Amino acid sequence: MDASTVTPPLSDAARAFLDAPERQRLLIGEERREAADGRTFDSLDPATGQPIARVPQAGAADVDAAVRAARAAFESGPWATLPAADRGRLLTRLAGLVADHAEELAELESLDNGKPVKLARVVDVAQTVAHFEYFAGWPTKIEGDVVPVRVPDTLCYTLREPVGVCGQIIPWNFPLLMAAWKVAPALAAGCTVVLKPAEQTPLTALRLGELALEAGIPPGVVNVVTGDGETGAALVDHPGVDKIAFTGSTVVGREIGAKAGRALKRVTLELGGKSPSIILPDADLDAAVKGSFQAIYFNTGQACNAGSRLFVPRESFDQVVGALADRARAARLGPGLAPDTQLGPLVSEDQLRRVTGYIEAGREEGAELVVGGGVPDGANGGYFVEPTLFAATSDDLRIAREEIFGPVLVALPYESVEEVAERANDSEYGLAAGVWTRSLASAHRLASLLRAGSIYINQWGMSDPAAPFGGYKASGIGREHGHAGLDAYLETKTVWATLR
Ligand code: ADP
Repeated sequence: MDASTVTPPLSDAARAFLDAPERQRLLIGEERREAADGRTFDSLDPATGQPIARVPQAGAADVDAAVRAARAAFESGPWATLPAADRGRLLTRLAGLVADHAEELAELESLDNGKPVKLARVVDVAQTVAHFEYFAGWPTKIEGDVVPVRVPDTLCYTLREPVGVCGQIIPWNFPLLMAAWKVAPALAAGCTVVLKPAEQTPLTALRLGELALEAGIPPGVVNVVTGDGETGAALVDHPGVDKIAFTGSTVVGREIGAKAGRALKRVTLELGGKSPSIILPDADLDAAVKGSFQAIYFNTGQACNAGSRLFVPRESFDQVVGALADRARAARLGPGLAPDTQLGPLVSEDQLRRVTGYIEAGREEGAELVVGGGVPDGANGGYFVEPTLFAATSDDLRIAREEIFGPVLVALPYESVEEVAERANDSEYGLAAGVWTRSLASAHRLASLLRAGSIYINQWGMSDPAAPFGGYKASGIGREHGHAGLDAYLETKTVWATLR
């Protein structure tokens, strides 16, 4: 491997959290609990495969206790009657505490997920602060309307009310940030939550639960249950949960959507993608190469909006592919905590198997492996895979159609701009798409033609708590962030009053 594998010691705060098993228990109300049946699982360091923490595997009884705590906090107690301004103040305080503990949280995230600690600082933790700050401004702006109905002598108005108890199930790629995406709007709306982090990365959600209590958010408003898909399913199935918010794979999202449909629970789903990035003939090629590289290899390819299909004009194909390959060869792989690491390991052995399986499939299907494809020397039990680039001519290969969720890019040549939008849209997914061009007209024309929830023009992956994010087609249902993200946690009540 290219980066040093020597990692500096953890900060005292991160070490103190890791050395305190009692702080890694389920958070139910204000209690830290073992699972009722005593089951546990280990969270592993993806850079070594070694355990770093042992956390409870919550079962149905634990989920039930957490939902009851959330229900009690929703219906009675200080949260239920708290003025909106105070809800905002508590969210601001939580944002401040996350910022105060930025280094500790970045280190825990890097250790648990494998991502470069620098990235954890500037993306995961900084964006978490931004989400709590943004949603802290909302409680005092949640307003109903007076409706000009046709009935005489009648006052009709609407109230926006919190949906209730929310089951929030999050993935492992941005653990703390995905928790913030879910918890911040729910609390702004006045809901209470049971948060289930992914089994690969439970630590920062547990720490966030502690910080929520420290901020003064009443016990029971944020509950954290650790466990795997079984725990998630128990949360989805629980009749006391009013809304499910899920980010994860399309396979599990379909299942959750079906269950929520049957139970008529509110549901938002943020799922997979196979996002096309299109370089137009007039693009600034250096910027397009640099951006396309980031689009796929950021977070070791483990991003739902990764730009994993790159469409390149036939005439510049060799140049673009060559430049991307040079960058991939120069990328420094290493443990997330090593200061010069650019690409960390994948999150788990399962993920390594999945990604190397796709690389194998790409070879077998006849795509040209331009660079990468292997496990680097010195991986030392860690789940490392080289940044990988395939050149292919068919859109029908598995590597060009299925979400890999790893550092694997497929470059595809095209002949005409007319053809490329159609090929880009020919996917079951529609999370994101991008275009690299110097022409305003082409940029906005493609932005209108591409069927995806986010369109990036001469950039990739920008995100902001105010800007809606979500998917078309099999990439999800509903939007997170901004006004739309808040709406997903509100019901509308219409009140009719006779004035005579
Ligand atoms: P991945 O395959 O990338 O791990 P998943 O969709 O399986 O993605 O996982 C995302 C989140 O969903 C995790 O928190 C996981 O524990 C949870 N999960 C997995 N299966 C289920 C399920 N059947 N019901 C509810 N949650 C689930």
